[in-house]
Order: sequence, then C-alpha cells, then structure tokens
Amino acid sequence: MILTITYTQAPATDLGYLLYKNPSRPQTFELSHGKAHMFYPEATNERCTAALVLDIDPIDLARGKKGSTGEGGLFDYVNDRPYVASSFLSVAISRVFGTAMSGKSKDKPELASMALPLKARIMMLPARGAEGIIHRLFEPLGYKVTVEEYMLDEKFPEWGMSKYYTVSLEGEVRLQDLLNHIYVLIPVLDADKHYWVGADEIDKLIWHGEGWLINHPEKGLITGRYLKRKKNLISQALERLVEESDVLDDEGEPDEPSQREETEKKLNLNQQRLGTVVAALKSVNAKRVIDIGCGEGNLLSMLLKDKSFEQIAGVDVSYNVLERAKDKLKIDRLPEMQKKRINLFQGSLTYRDKRFSGYDAATVIEVIEHLDENRLAAFEKVLFKFARPQTVIVSTPNKEYNTHYSNLLEGSLRHRDHRFEWSRREFEMWAAKVAKDYGYNVRFVQIGDVDNEFGSPTQMGVFTL
Ligand code: SAH
Repeated sequence: MILTITYTQAPATDLGYLLYKNPSRPQTFELSHGKAHMFYPEATNERCTAALVLDIDPIDLARGKKGSTGEGGLFDYVNDRPYVASSFLSVAISRVFGTAMSGKSKDKPELASMALPLKARIMMLPARGAEGIIHRLFEPLGYKVTVEEYMLDEKFPEWGMSKYYTVSLEGEVRLQDLLNHIYVLIPVLDADKHYWVGADEIDKLIWHGEGWLINHPEKGLITGRYLKRKKNLISQALERLVEESDVLDDEGEPDEPSQREETEKKLNLNQQRLGTVVAALKSVNAKRVIDIGCGEGNLLSMLLKDKSFEQIAGVDVSYNVLERAKDKLKIDRLPEMQKKRINLFQGSLTYRDKRFSGYDAATVIEVIEHLDENRLAAFEKVLFKFARPQTVIVSTPNKEYNTHYSNLLEGSLRHRDHRFEWSRREFEMWAAKVAKDYGYNVRFVQIGDVDNEFGSPTQMGVFTL
C-alpha cells in the first residue's frame, strides 16, 4: 500500500525539511514485519510529493509472529494484510515521519507550525462500514475528501464492489496534523490492528489525537474502534480525553450512560474551575485580562459574556488551538464593539513579549504542567518580572488527588503532555518562592470536590501585588 503527501506551495521542496527526508535520496526502513520505502516521485519548485510504500512480508506475518491474525490455518496465509493500508501503515508513518508528527522542524519551524496546502492519497484503504464513514471521519477535520472505489473483479461485475478505497484528502492543514489524523484514522477505518491492544494504546490515542479528537463528532466511534472495542479502555480514554483537553463539548453525545456520568463529572470540574477563576478576577476588580495558554477559549468565552471585563486577550502557543478558539468564540460574527474587546494571538509564556503587558490580571489555567520544569524560571520572569500585572492566577492539577482516578496507574500523570504534576505542598512552595522573589502576595484556593486527606483535583494560586 502506498501513502503519498503532496505539497504545492513554492518552494515545494521544503516538504523535505518538514519530513526530515532529502528529496534526492530514497531510503528504506526495516520494520518488524517488512520494509518501508520512502522516496519522492516528484520534487519541483511548484510541487513536491513524498511517497511511503510498505513492503510487508506475508510469510513473516503468517508465522505466528508479530502480525499473525492468530486465527491459524489458511487465513493466516491468505489475507489482505500485506496489500492494504492498515495499522502497519500507521506504525510505518510514526517510524519514518515521527519527528514531523511531533511538529518539530529544525530548519523550517515556521512552516511546521503553519497550515499548508497539502494533499494526501492513501491507496487501498479497507473501510468497514463502507464509503460514508470515510467522509464522516475526515470531513469534520476540514478536508475535501475524494473516494475512488473498485470492483471486486471487473470480469464478474455481479460480485459487486470491494471494501477497498483510494482516499484523497485535500486541505489547508499543518503537516503534523495531517500525519496524526492519518495515523489514528487508518486503523479506525480498517477496524483491525496487527498487535495486541493494551492500555498503552490509550496514551497513543490521546497523544496523536491531541487538539482534534475531543471535538470530533465521531469521537465515540474513533475511540471505540481504535481501542478494538475494549470497553474498559474506551471509557478510560474518553474520561482522560475530557479531563485533559478540558474542553466543554456540548455537541458530542456520549454513547453509554456510564461514560456520560464520568464525562459530566469532569465537565463539572472544568466549569467549577472557570467559575472560580472568574470570581477571583472580579474580586480584584480586573477589567483587562490576558489568558495565557487559553486553549480553545473556554475562559475567554465566559469573560466575553461579562461586561465588567473590558479588554480580553487570549494567547496560546498552538496555532491550531487558536483557530479553534476563533471558531468557538465566533469572533468573525461578533458585533464590532464586541470584536474590539477581544484579541487572540500566538505566543509563548516562556518568551518575553511586550504584548503581555498592560493588563490588570493574567490567568494561566492548567498550563504550567505542560512546561518543562527547567523552563519555569523563564515563565516566572516573563510574567512576574516583565509583564507584571496586578494579579496573576495560576492553576494546576493537585497530584495527590490522582488516587481518585481509578484508571491512572500509581505515579502516572493525568495527561501524556504533562511534564510534571505537583502535590499541594510542592505547588505552594513554588508559589511562595515566586511571590517572594517578585514582591507579590499569594493565597491558595482548592477547586472541585475536596477530599480530607488528598485535597481537591485542581489547585489555584492568586498572586497580587
Ligand atoms: N487554559 C485552557 C487550556 C489548558 S490546556 C483551559 O483551562 O481550558 C494547556 C494549553 O497551554 C494548551 O492549549 C497548550 O497549547 C498551551 N501551552 C502549552 N505550552 C505553552 C506555552 N509555552 N505558551 C503558551 N501556551 C502554551
């Protein structure tokens, strides 16, 4: 099976920098079940196409080793696995394009963070549930989807159509997102996996689904199939998705009552957190507020609804997330007066930035745990020394409360992207030191159900000058 990715903006050969693969040099990668060949069938200034071809060894698959269907007998030898786009292709994508998938680019970081005109073509994709599902999965992600179908055998039209399709996806999208969408959705369409699906698959799903899965109208189906319908894994994944993205999802109907219960519990925490932040902002009479690491804009949306907030800014390091915030807040459709109240921009709270200045209060809600601990000092300076608003509100998970999340292994974090989680003592020590270093006072607030022994799920520090 073949995957191609075409980029059509001059100089199109920049695709080579983004994929970390030189357009003039074909390469072969050894995989546990065969080989992956990567080359560029075309590489001109206007148009550059990268191709990934899988060469799976059917005998290797059949030997009861990795990839055996386990059903034994003839089926192990006669099957479509070597010839179709399946979880083997996902494994190859992450192996060959792993760096691009994580959004890193040494030579062209700005291109890696931008939506680009890209087209992907996936050949021989089996779609259980037929063609409609291909549209349902890719269209909500903003792609123009074209599907070619094939007859089972042209000599015997009465046999009908096959379940294999060639799918083209076209859109303005970051390369990183395109790769992650394909990585997750191929095994979902195929509804099969060549390896044992255990709890670590949840991490993969959350990692590769970051920023898009939570709002996908088919997230129930995607999660279900990705985790091979293992009920316990599915409910854990849905729970973590909501908890980790902290996004209010008002469209998606959770499919089972037990899931809904869990989901509501989490939504509740999110609402409580935002409500507490707004209350703290009002208590210090903040009129101009900047929300750093604003995500999809849940807090911004609450601030917009309250007239006492005159000037509101949202900052996030992720371009994609900001785009979604723009959509959710319907910025383009706001009346002029409202539009003037809000400003969204891309930025990082670890780099000094003039645009962070001039606000009464800054909120940093569930963000610091995404920073490497050695970047915290930079963040402290940027906010407390240079931007220096009258009030700073910082919230972060309370690690002690994790014992209440039955699905978390002891010592593990709530989100794959969390670099650390702190106990109350750790947070309070950090906050007290920051307050002392920069001349602020700090008070602490617990958010969510309070457990006598372990405290609450979220902890918040309110710093004031
Ligand atoms: N504050 C939001 C989102 C929390 S998720 C809420 O409570 O709903 C964490 C967010 O921090 C993500 O959107 C992520 O893109 C952003 N982020 C991570 N590192 C950042 C950095 N260095 N600067 C700015 N934002 C960052």
